[in-house]
Amino acid sequence: MKIFDISIPLNPDLPVWPGDPRIVLEQYQTIESGHASNNSKLACGVHSGTHVDAPSHFIKDGITVDQLPLDVLIGPAFVANFPKADTVTPDFLEALDLPRETTRLLIKTRNSSLWSEPNHVFNPDFVAINPEAADWIVNRGIRLIGIDYLSIQRYKDPEPLTHRILLGAGVIIVEGLCLQNVHAGLYTLICLPIKLAGSEGAPARSILIEE
Ligand SMILES: [Zn+2]
Repeated sequence: MKIFDISIPLNPDLPVWPGDPRIVLEQYQTIESGHASNNSKLACGVHSGTHVDAPSHFIKDGITVDQLPLDVLIGPAFVANFPKADTVTPDFLEALDLPRETTRLLIKTRNSSLWSEPNHVFNPDFVAINPEAADWIVNRGIRLIGIDYLSIQRYKDPEPLTHRILLGAGVIIVEGLCLQNVHAGLYTLICLPIKLAGSEGAPARSILIEE
């Protein structure tokens, strides 16, 4: 059994979505300065690093991250690799020949290599899923979709259609995955967002298990 950690370490240097708050993770008491223990505080947007979007992110009265079904967040997941895609369209998805029973799909693109770039700043040219591909995902019965940058939809899309289509159908979105060391194929996904009461999203430790 091999375990792949597909989460990005949360740290203050991590790029965040333009306009989102910077990540603050700092010690306010340290053993070095005479305290009995080290104690840290965290402040960040809930869409920081590897995180889950719940339906309420874009859907009024949609369920929140603490209400997401755990049996969707855990289970068999297919990793697709689209190294040449600039945008993920239905053609890419159709060509996958996905196993019929697939309900969790993680998409690896050239985005994954951005996470190991030195001095990585937010890159608006990341690869994402167009609205037609979002429709394909919903119609195919996918319940969880993951992508390897900070949004499932293109930066310059005038309307948030991709988010609305997916979240409107109750599909759970995982963003900010790092799939650099993972090859295409079938795994067991464990993706557990922090149980933030009433929040539309939350950072999520995410791992893949290869049997
Ligand atoms: Zn998000």
